[in-house]
Amino acid sequence: MTDILIAGAGPVGLALALALQRRGIAVQVLEKREGLSTASRASTFHPPTLEALDELGVFAALRPGGVQVDRILWRRVDSGAVATLDLGILAEESRFPFRWHREQHYLTPALLAALPANSVRFDAGVAALTQDDGGVTVTCEDGSSHRARYLIGCDGSSGAVRGLAGIAAETNDYAHRVLRLLTPLDLRAHVPALDGLGYLYDAEGSCSLLRMPEVWRVILRMPPDMTDLDALSDVYARAQLGRFLPQVAEMPITGRDVYGVRKAMAVTYRAGRVLLAGDAAHLTNTRGGMNMNAGVHDAMTLAATLRRVLDGHGDALLDAWAAARLRTVREALLPRTDARVAADPAGEVARMAALAPDQARAWAREASMLDIAKAGAP
Ligand SMILES: Cc1cc2nc3c(=O)[nH]c(=O)nc-3n(C[C@H](O)[C@H](O)[C@H](O)COP(=O)(O)OP(=O)(O)OC[C@H]3O[C@@H](n4cnc5c(N)ncnc54)[C@H](O)[C@@H]3O)c2cc1C
Repeated sequence: MTDILIAGAGPVGLALALALQRRGIAVQVLEKREGLSTASRASTFHPPTLEALDELGVFAALRPGGVQVDRILWRRVDSGAVATLDLGILAEESRFPFRWHREQHYLTPALLAALPANSVRFDAGVAALTQDDGGVTVTCEDGSSHRARYLIGCDGSSGAVRGLAGIAAETNDYAHRVLRLLTPLDLRAHVPALDGLGYLYDAEGSCSLLRMPEVWRVILRMPPDMTDLDALSDVYARAQLGRFLPQVAEMPITGRDVYGVRKAMAVTYRAGRVLLAGDAAHLTNTRGGMNMNAGVHDAMTLAATLRRVLDGHGDALLDAWAAARLRTVREALLPRTDARVAADPAGEVARMAALAPDQARAWAREASMLDIAKAGAP
C-alpha cells in the first residue's frame, strides 16, 4: 500500500505528487490519458506559484523562452486614456514580483521529469473507489487495483473522483464564450506602453493581449448568441481587430479557437479519505489567469498538511485545510474573477488610473494571489 494515490497527471496532480515526494511521502499518480496533455490552456504564473515551483526545483525549467511581465496596461482605444501598473511594487512581498507567461504544457513535463520513475501510471483512469477505516481502494479502467491511505482527486473538471466520492458541486456557465486569436506580430511595436499584458477598452467591451514566447494571444469575449462558426470567421476577427487594434487589423492570424468558461465549486473538498484539488474542486473564468495557480496552491498546502497527518497529528487537519481552501474559492477566487468579468468597460481605465499607490499595491497583491496562496497551510 502506498501513502497517497493521486488521480490526474495535470499541473495540480503532478505538483502535489512532487511536493509529497519531496516530503518523503510515497505517492502513485493514476492518469486516464496515455500521456501528458499538450492542450493550450494556462499561460499565466503568478508570484506565489513561481515561489512554489522554485521550491520544487522546476521553475528553472519554465524560465528558458518564457516571458517576464513587469507591467500591466489598461488603455481606452477611443480616447487614448491610459493606466499602467508596475508589478515591481510587490518586490518586498515576493522574490518574483512579476507574472511569468509560459504554456502549462511546459510545466507538466518538468514536474514529471522531477518525479522518480514510475510515479505516474498512464492509461489508468480511476473508475471506482471504496473506502474503509484503513484506506481507500481504487479500481482503474485498465482493471488494475490500487490502495493507499488517502486518494486525492486532481482529475480536472470532468474527472470521476468527485462523483465517486459522492461530493456535489455548484456549477454555472458564464454568459459569454471566448474567442482566442494568435498572432506572431509583436504588438508592443503598435500599442504604446504595452509590456506583456494589456487590456484594451471601448465604451462597450474589452480585449486582452497576452504576450507568449512566440505569439501574442488576443482574447475577445463573444456575444452570447453568436455561433462558434461565425466567431471563427475572418470577417468577425477582422471586425474585432479593427475595433480594438485598427492600426494592425490585418495582422497575420496563425491560430484561433473558441472556448466556454464555466464556474464550479465542489461543496466540500473532503469525503473521508478522499480529497479534491485543482479543477476537480474549483473552476472559474480564465480572466485574470487564476484557476491553475489556485490549484498549485491547493497542492502545496495539502502536501504540507498531509505530512503532518501522516506524522500522527490527527486528520482533523485535513478538515481545516479543506475548509480554508473552500473559503478561499468562495470568498476570493470566484468573486475576484466575477468582478473582473463584470467590470464596466467604460470606467475601468479611469478607475485603475485613479488608484493611489497603496490601493495599487493592494490591487496587485490580490491580482497576484499573494493574499490567498497559503490559506490552509498547517
Ligand atoms: C484557454 C484556457 C486558458 C487558461 N489560462 C489560465 C491561466 O492563464 N492561469 C491559470 O491559472 N489557469 C488558466 N486556465 C485554467 C487551467 O488550465 C486549469 O485550471 C488547469 O489545467 C487545472 O489543472 P488540473 O491539474 O487541476 O486539471 P487538468 O489540467 O484538467 O488535469 C486533469 C488530469 O486528470 C486526468 N483525468 C481525468 N479523469 C481522470 C480519471 N478518471 N482518472 C485519472 N485521471 C483522470 C486528465 O486526463 C488530466 O490529465 C486556463 C484554462 C483554459 C481552458
